[in-house]
Amino acid sequence: MAGDVHRRGRRDVAHGTLIVRVVEVRFFTADLHIHTVLSACAEVEMLPARIIERAKELRLGLIAITDHNSAENAEAMLSAAEGSGITVLPGMELQTREEVHLLCLFDTLEQVRCWQKEVYAHLPALKNREEVFGVQIVLDAMGNAVGKSERLLLTSSTFSLEEAVRRVEELGGLCLPAHVDRPSYSIIANLGFIPPELGLVGVEISPLLGPREARERFPELRSYSLVAGGDAHRLKEVSARTTFRMEEATIVELARALASEGGRGVWVDGIHAGRVA
Ligand SMILES: [Zn+2]
Ligand SMILES: [Zn+2]
Repeated sequence: MAGDVHRRGRRDVAHGTLIVRVVEVRFFTADLHIHTVLSACAEVEMLPARIIERAKELRLGLIAITDHNSAENAEAMLSAAEGSGITVLPGMELQTREEVHLLCLFDTLEQVRCWQKEVYAHLPALKNREEVFGVQIVLDAMGNAVGKSERLLLTSSTFSLEEAVRRVEELGGLCLPAHVDRPSYSIIANLGFIPPELGLVGVEISPLLGPREARERFPELRSYSLVAGGDAHRLKEVSARTTFRMEEATIVELARALASEGGRGVWVDGIHAGRVA
């Protein structure tokens, strides 16, 4: 898709002249929900270099790394993306105490590490049961396996949804409730609705559901912009269904695209997916 230029003028009150700021928006095809080998349920092929290779094949411009309750492989993912032209947002798929899965996305490793520290302090001190859940492989910055996380990550934190959204936003991040149409681990299934006081702008629908069908089944989704992540636990699940139009691949711009501000927007399966009510 071609780029687009929007000119927006504002009056310089002090000098009575018109200052024109040129906003150059581009299209970024994105998958904001990808797991690595750190997630016990992910395949061993979910290694940073291979994820980037797959993202290139799909012509993605933006991906987010969202392991369960952890961001220990985020640095490896960012290193693997260097020079690829693909932006990687370090993130996490948090499980709140309501058993709701929430994508928490950030711009920087520093932010996500800060969040991870808080999440670890809100997880039960239990060990992973590899024979039940699988191995949680930790990678170094170069993407080499250096060990495994012994902590039980596939469980609920003690963060409430409300506390998590507030804290992620305080850290400069963005929250998207994950796979909201699913019968388990989703905000609609577990709470019965999306609490408006959370102030969320967008939500994720699951891989097999289209945006129109989603809004037919859940009319309240008209009030939210939709994204469709792959929830990829294997390479073939990385998806190219969501496209953002924005200036650059940052959290601030994502939020503006979800709010359809200033010529920005979001599409799923080629259909405009911005909120309509
Ligand atoms: Zn999930
Ligand atoms: Zn997931």
